[in-house]
Amino acid sequence: MLRMKIKKNYNMSGYVTVKTGGSARQLIYPETAAELTDISKSLEAAGSRYYILGRGSNVLIPDEGVGIIVSTLMMNKVSVEANKIICEAGAMLPAVAVIAAKAGLSGLEELAGIPATVGGALRMNAGAFGKEIKDILYCPPGNMNYRQGINDAVILSAVLELTPDSPEKIFTRMNEFKRIRQSRQPNEPSFGCAFKNIPHYVISAGKLIDECGLKGIRIGDAEISSTHANFIINKGRARTCDILNIMDIVEKVVYNKTGIILEREVEVLCQS
Ligand SMILES: Cc1cc2nc3c(=O)[nH]c(=O)nc-3n(C[C@H](O)[C@H](O)[C@H](O)COP(=O)(O)OP(=O)(O)OC[C@H]3O[C@@H](n4cnc5c(N)ncnc54)[C@H](O)[C@@H]3O)c2cc1C
Repeated sequence: MLRMKIKKNYNMSGYVTVKTGGSARQLIYPETAAELTDISKSLEAAGSRYYILGRGSNVLIPDEGVGIIVSTLMMNKVSVEANKIICEAGAMLPAVAVIAAKAGLSGLEELAGIPATVGGALRMNAGAFGKEIKDILYCPPGNMNYRQGINDAVILSAVLELTPDSPEKIFTRMNEFKRIRQSRQPNEPSFGCAFKNIPHYVISAGKLIDECGLKGIRIGDAEISSTHANFIINKGRARTCDILNIMDIVEKVVYNKTGIILEREVEVLCQS
């Protein structure tokens, strides 16, 4: 624990992708799986509440701040063995996808544009273009579903099982998926989709929000993107409470107009 890098009273708006929220009393950076295990065990033994964070691309930090955050970002080693990629939890998916492509291993092209760590992606079962990370996980647990990943464990590392192909073809596919993503998603800071798609429903949550006339509504500097109605963007100095107020409005309006209860995809950390 003493050897680990610890930042005190760290402004978490500089950490999370949406760039809102208050400070963490402690931000701890284990560098190895053993250190992450040690710190988790000792915080649990002390009864201290803590959150593990990867890239912070699917979380909202309260404006009042949080207690202890354990970041995996310094645990980012990746190695290739035959058709498998072994990644530490903090390895970034886009970087892993490039390593895989260079090694002539296909399977990550669709996911290459998601700004997630491998640990965060497994926790959320992140997916895009019909592919989910569980599809390429070596020995996936049976209970991973749409945006429901591994939620009962600290994820230390993962083995992804991929398929051989030529690097050139892999990079071509990957770049095409990235191009489509860039054309559909806003450039401003966000946390990706605010709400989950509704299972078996004809249209996406974004389309539903759009059809309810909510695109462009703004509170403070938080706004429903006019590019993609399921993205709430930070136009400058948004606060987490502005985003939460927008989410409340979206939930109420969508429910009143359609009877559908939207489920939040983003995780809101508790103040502690
Ligand atoms: C621009 C943008 C585009 C996006 N596009 C997509 C998309 O196409 N598809 C998609 O599915 N998502 C998308 N997202 C959302 C987000 O990237 C994913 O949910 C991602 O899986 C979160 O990973 P993370 O490393 O940022 O996790 P964090 O946000 O840091 O954490 C998310 C959750 O995972 C837990 N967690 C993180 N690491 C670990 C670990 N090692 N062990 C246990 N729990 C852990 C955290 O405690 C938290 O509960 C997008 C986000 C942005 C900002």
